[in-house]
Amino acid sequence: MIALFFGAPGVGKGTQASLISQREGIPYLSTGEALRNAIAKQTEVGKLAQTYVESGGLVPDDVVTRIVDETLKQPEFAKGAILDGYPRTTAQAEALTEILRGYGKAVSVVVNITVDTETIVKRLLLRGRKDDKEEIIRHRFGVYAKETAPLLDYYTNAGAAIKTIDGDAEVEVVYERVYTSLNA
Ligand code: ADP
Repeated sequence: MIALFFGAPGVGKGTQASLISQREGIPYLSTGEALRNAIAKQTEVGKLAQTYVESGGLVPDDVVTRIVDETLKQPEFAKGAILDGYPRTTAQAEALTEILRGYGKAVSVVVNITVDTETIVKRLLLRGRKDDKEEIIRHRFGVYAKETAPLLDYYTNAGAAIKTIDGDAEVEVVYERVYTSLNA
């Protein structure tokens, strides 16, 4: 199974993606987490990514795609993958299609988590990560609406199953919904 976790910043896709990964034993990659680690370590990629991440913009496609390409080469990803935060643009989706084609694979399912915007702004302000300031959050929403939301059509056309989940509930309740939709 190649599953993408989709949704605006703060919908809880990272939480759900990592829970499904742990409980189902499918390896997981969060590009946001990978970038934050790279920034913390001040690697080449980290230095390149820092200003984009901290201002709520998108890191250039080739930089994130390289991370995904390298990660999917690891042997444990032969059994499947859960991707969180990638792809975020049409160019990334096309790159991912090519990478997966090299393994004779394709995205099978997109878990699209939705939560009302004002509810997520409150959640993110509580989370308080460096890019969780109101102005930057609103900017990230704009980027999501413009660049990422259209990918739902891309994956519908590509024949992936789209599972839209109401994410406005406790973590375990949302998990049940996600789990049920993946096993339907
Ligand atoms: P959130 O879902 O709250 O936006 P993420 O951890 O997924 O949090 O992403 C945080 C930031 O990392 C993004 O705002 C962006 O700057 C960068 N980022 C993560 N994934 C990508 C990607 N696929 N393409 C470009 N930038 C990315």
